[in-house]
Amino acid sequence: MAYCRFCISFQTTFGGGGNSTNTLSIVVPCYNESRNIHTFYTKALEQITKIQTLNPSIACEFIFVDDGSSDETLRILEDLSCADTRVKFLSFSRNFGKESAILAGLRASRGDCVVLIDADLQHPVELILPMYEAFYTQHIDVVYARRINRDGEGRIRAWLSKMFYKVYGLLSSVGLESGVSDFRLMSRKVVDSVLSLNETHRFCKGLFEWVGFEKKCLCYHYIPRDEGKSSWNLWKLSKYAIDGIIGFSTLPLRIPLLIGGCISGGAIVYGICIMIDTFLYGNPVQGYASLICLILFLGGLNLMVVGIVGEYIARIYEQSKNRPHYLIKKKNF
Ligand code: UDP
Ligand code: MG
Repeated sequence: MAYCRFCISFQTTFGGGGNSTNTLSIVVPCYNESRNIHTFYTKALEQITKIQTLNPSIACEFIFVDDGSSDETLRILEDLSCADTRVKFLSFSRNFGKESAILAGLRASRGDCVVLIDADLQHPVELILPMYEAFYTQHIDVVYARRINRDGEGRIRAWLSKMFYKVYGLLSSVGLESGVSDFRLMSRKVVDSVLSLNETHRFCKGLFEWVGFEKKCLCYHYIPRDEGKSSWNLWKLSKYAIDGIIGFSTLPLRIPLLIGGCISGGAIVYGICIMIDTFLYGNPVQGYASLICLILFLGGLNLMVVGIVGEYIARIYEQSKNRPHYLIKKKNF
């Protein structure tokens, strides 16, 4: 279907700018989700109908962010936006990653509460109603969803996730609960707080925790993907984990100081032992093999420390370039 100009003008008025009230924004990052968008949209509409029985005057907007999909996602979003004027979409010039898609969606949202949810139906859409209920009746600023089981995940991935949460807990002052994803409802106050954090390497899970505010948790069981496949592989996940740790902790920079101190102390004690052994007991100095092991160990340690420092410097470099998080190819508002 052709791009609808009527929709643009209507939605520009609808979007309005400023802080509109009594509006629910549903922000959905999409990357190659052409087979899921319709089902997601239908299920979300059911939730909105139920929410309207709770709050009849509530308005709603969908903000779909096409993160440079190579399938029919953009065309489907264009069609949907012409059929339903509440549907806003924006499309990136290439794939910038989910974190950038979330940022763009939150920036575009105008509601006094915003639900952030995946398009792939792995986040239970039916939680939108209880989320809104907690916001509307109890005035809770953040209602987040937590997955309580790790079914459907490979053993290695589940173990690595567990380790990540453990290491993260040790290194960072911002706590992360295992099983908590980006799926959540946030009040306008919270969204604005998150948007005020302008870091280049965004780790939303950490940012959502960092801003604080009153929270409520809703639990759910794992839902397998019906259509499409997860865009995360082990490499991407490791990069994401490193971003998470480095973005929220400077402890990795301090740990080498401790290790270096221990090794130097140990080396001095060992040197004194060798001297005593040689001068007092006349034993010749031995151990080329142990010397080589020690040199290799220290060389490796040095490189590792340089690598850790490099990770931090790389982030300062990225931040100083101040490039935009994403570029928009097309949008309808
Ligand atoms: N996504 C995105 N950009 C990406 C990768 C994913 O916008 O580069 C979207 C994707 O369409 C989905 C959500 O982020 O709506 C979660 O992605 P995925 O299912 O791949 O992650 P998982 O559920 O395996 O953590
Ligand atoms: Mg998924």
